[in-house]
Formats: sequence, C-alpha cells, structure tokens
Amino acid sequence: MTVFGMGKHGNVGVKTQGFATPLERLRDVDVAVIGGGPAGLAAALGASRAGAEVVILERGKRLGGILNQCIHDGFGLALYKESISGPEYAERLMDDVGREGIRVETGAMVLDLSADKILRVNSRSGYSLVRAKSVVLAMGCRERTRDMIEIPGDRPAGVWTAGTAQNLVNLQNLRLGNEIVILGSGDIGLIMARRLTFEGMKVKGVFEILPWVGGLERNVRQCLSDFSIPLELTTTVVDICGRDRLSSVVVSRVDEALKPLAGTEREIPCDTLLLSVGLIPENELSKRAGVELSPATGGAVVDEMFMTSVPGVFSCGNVLQIHDVADWASFEGFVAGKNAALHARGEIPTRGTIVRITPGAGVRYALPQIVRRSAAGVDLHFRVTAPRRNVWIEARGSASGTIFFRRKFPRLLPSELQKIKLTTAIDEDLEVAAHD
Ligand SMILES: Cc1cc2nc3c(=O)[nH]c(=O)nc-3n(C[C@H](O)[C@H](O)[C@H](O)COP(=O)(O)OP(=O)(O)OC[C@H]3O[C@@H](n4cnc5c(N)ncnc54)[C@H](O)[C@@H]3O)c2cc1C
Repeated sequence: MTVFGMGKHGNVGVKTQGFATPLERLRDVDVAVIGGGPAGLAAALGASRAGAEVVILERGKRLGGILNQCIHDGFGLALYKESISGPEYAERLMDDVGREGIRVETGAMVLDLSADKILRVNSRSGYSLVRAKSVVLAMGCRERTRDMIEIPGDRPAGVWTAGTAQNLVNLQNLRLGNEIVILGSGDIGLIMARRLTFEGMKVKGVFEILPWVGGLERNVRQCLSDFSIPLELTTTVVDICGRDRLSSVVVSRVDEALKPLAGTEREIPCDTLLLSVGLIPENELSKRAGVELSPATGGAVVDEMFMTSVPGVFSCGNVLQIHDVADWASFEGFVAGKNAALHARGEIPTRGTIVRITPGAGVRYALPQIVRRSAAGVDLHFRVTAPRRNVWIEARGSASGTIFFRRKFPRLLPSELQKIKLTTAIDEDLEVAAHD
C-alpha cells in the first residue's frame, strides 16, 4: 500500500456491525476514486480542491494508468501547453496529488461497488470496505481481442493486442518478433508500428477494415508515412496460420458490407500479429452498482455533471467514453471530481426534471445524454459516424424545433472526439445531428 498523504481529515479503520465480517475493516470517506490514471488523478484533485476528503484506489503497483507504458510524446498539449511523454504527464498529476495530501492506495483492487456506495477492496493490507458519500468511476478501458472479432484459423503464439504488446516492449523490454502485421488503425496500432520499427522489427503493413483510419491523422503521418509503413484500408485479416508460432496471415479486401471479397486474398509471411481493433470501457463495477450504460459509448449515461443514473456515482475518462487524448480524460476528471465533492456535501440535487440529448443523423453519440432543465453552458461531446467535409452540426429541440447550436465544420472524423458548448439553457429534449 502506498500512502502519499494521510488525508485532510484522517482515516478511520473500524469494524462494522451488520454488513461486515469481523475480518473486514470499514473506512468512511467523502469521495472514493476508483482508478489512478489521468482521469482518476484529476478527479481526486478536483474533489480535494473542492474541500472533500478523498481516497484513490488503484489496482496497479503505481499510479498513472495506461500513461506509464506510453513513452512517446504528444501528451499534455491541452492541459500543460507542451508535448510531453505519458509518464511525465502522469508524474505532474501525481505531484499535484502528493502536494494536495490526497490519500492514495496502490495495489488496491475494487472488487465490488453497491448502489449505496460501499466498495469492497482487496489490497496488500487485506480485505476492507470503503463507505463513500460519492464515488468517481475512472477504471479506464480494455482492448478488444481476436475472439471478439472472430478471426478464424490456427491459434499459434505471436498474436497480441497492441496495448499488451506496448506494455511488453516498453515496460518489460521484450522483443516480440521480427516481421509484424498490424490489424486495425486505432492510435495504439499506429503508435506501435513506429515503436516496433524503432526496435528494429519489420512492420509489413497496417490493415484496416473500414474505408477510413481509426486513429488520429497526426499519428498516421508521424507513425506510418514518416517510416514508409504501408496502410491498406477496406482490408482485413481472414486467416491466421502457424502451428506453434505464427507463420503468416491471409488478408482480403472487403465489400461495402465489410464482407471479404472472394479472389482478393493474399498471404503475408510474418511471426507477429498485433490487433488494434477497439477499446471497451471497463464497466463491470458500474453494472454491479446498477449504473445505466449507453450502448453507443459502452460507458455510463451521465448528466452534465458527469453523474450517472445512480445518485452520487460519477464517471470520467475512458470508462465513460473512449478518449483520443489523455488531456480530455483529465478535464472530465476535474469536473466529475469537483461535482462528487459537492454531492458529498449535499449541494447537488439528485432528482429533478431532466431533458435528454440523443444523436440524430450522422452522429454516433452525444454526451452527456441527460441535462438538468435549468443548465446553461453545457459542454457537449459528440462523434460523427463517418468522415464528413463542410458539415453543419445542429442541436435542435425535439418538440419545438428551436436551434440551440448550429455551426459549420470544415472537416469531421469519427476518430476525433468533438466538444461544443451549448450557451443557452436547455428546456426541452434535444437531438444532435450532422447535415450537409
Ligand atoms: C497505447 C495508447 C497510446 C496513447 N497515446 C496517447 C497520446 O499520444 N496522447 C494522448 O493525449 N493520449 C494518448 N492515449 C490516450 C490516453 O492515454 C487515454 O485517453 C487515458 O490514459 C485514459 O485515462 P483513464 O484514466 O480514463 O484510463 P487509464 O489510464 O486506463 O487508467 C485507469 C486506471 O484504473 C485502474 N483500475 C481499473 N479497474 C480498477 C479496479 N477495479 N480497482 C482499482 N483500480 C482499477 C487501472 O489499473 C488503471 O490504472 C493513448 C492511449 C493508449 C492506450
């Protein structure tokens, strides 16, 4: 257990009556933050600066989350106005957490969360319960695997998800193989194409089933084009070959329905296949607490304060929606944490009339999905379903047709999370849509 500070108000470690066994310890806290990545660290800072006693519970050995394995730069452009590496970005937030005297427990896995905000925690010091007035969910995400995308073929060694490969190469100094194929053009796959090239491996190509790239354009330029690594769109892996070790993959073009086109198959010899085929918000604990999830984001349905359908439970970062850049996960964290502190003091009403925001034509999702009727100045996130040029984004009242937001964007990509501000108070349900 790592303790950076004893907390502003000290911690209690008492045995409980009723719901705890004699071996369980109960601690009361204003705000419990689950996960110590860029979202969780920012949430803890937001809550502590708003006057709450906070504990961060992180299952890993150290804070920082996924940032620890992201040794490339490109982090911090929005938050710190400079380009720094993932570990440096994490360190800045950790320094602030230390200065703030926030209690941190690493090696502390939250096993369960109830709707009344009792957390069951397994840590090196034993099994304990934390009873929080507010909880911030900041558990990040996990990668989609081969099984989830159903690639047929042999099951040899040498097939990795890109994030696991990044961990093995960057943190454990392991060499994965010699000849690499990457399926999926998400940011992790693009970044790993460059990283493995630096490590002396031959990246034979990045293949993407969709007609557009899944990651950021800057990553295509800096990670593929600059190293002459081929990128093939509308192409997927249809077979994996090799008895013990991967020996080749078969790629095929796909049609508009993303089905392989017969006769376009091509075998590529390789000993390693990386999969960068999507991220899934890690919401098992949220489900245990009864939090309503959105099928579009895979994360919680939240209001403009990032509060979920369970009063006092907030969500931010990749567990809420997959972020392209860590800064936005942190910005969400600061707001969610501050509101969690306000809720802990009873300053946020948990009920009341609400309006719903739903995605319309050309928009994959809009977030928050719920807004309190009186709110003005709401920040609205959205993603488009496909690349668009010279497109109008409109937020329109579903009943009256009133336009609450309208702006022309020169270019929008599904890979880029967009944020707009609704400056007027919203008093009816809204639909956010993209129009030519
Ligand atoms: C490979 C890769 C490259 C990237 N490159 C960039 C880049 O160049 N620039 C940029 O700005 N962004 C980049 N990003 C995006 C950015 O890193 C993420 O958006 C950001 O890390 C998300 O932060 P998070 O706190 O939500 O999640 P995470 O960083 O994943 O942190 C979640 C934390 O929660 C902990 N946790 C989960 N479940 C539990 C539990 N039950 N109990 C206790 N703890 C738990 C995890 O151990 C983890 O530490 C990259 C992401 C990846 C994966």
